[in-house]
Amino acid sequence: MSRLSPHFSLEELTASQTAARKGIDNTPPPAVIEALRKTAAQLEAVRELLGGRVITVSSGYRSPRLNRAVGGTRASAHLKGRAVDFNCYGFGSPLAVCRAIASSEIPFDQLIEEGTWVHLSFDERLRRQVRTKAPGGGYRPGLRSD
Ligand SMILES: [Zn+2]
Repeated sequence: MSRLSPHFSLEELTASQTAARKGIDNTPPPAVIEALRKTAAQLEAVRELLGGRVITVSSGYRSPRLNRAVGGTRASAHLKGRAVDFNCYGFGSPLAVCRAIASSEIPFDQLIEEGTWVHLSFDERLRRQVRTKAPGGGYRPGLRSD
């Protein structure tokens, strides 16, 4: 196992069920490994914010082929190793996790409540955009209030 930070490994941030199922090579190039190291360091701050509870990453880096296979957007921060989809089951729902991150001092570019997971990206723009996936498709600004 190759460690990127105290609690996150390269394997965790590159594993993909879709890649495994479809036989897609999801090995990141060296520049992306460096980006993943930064992402892991930023995830450590998120982990601490969430009470040091386990963060379960479902998608981190995506190679161009994998990104196409999962229907990711063309400019997805996942392609650069700067985004993760995750849950923190010990903390609460994706909405609860999003609320905690949105009201923290943690710098991020996009935070999206996707329904059953949280998308968090650390693109250098660090715009602190907060979005909610809408039931009919697309995204709305902000988080649900209920
Ligand atoms: Zn995502």
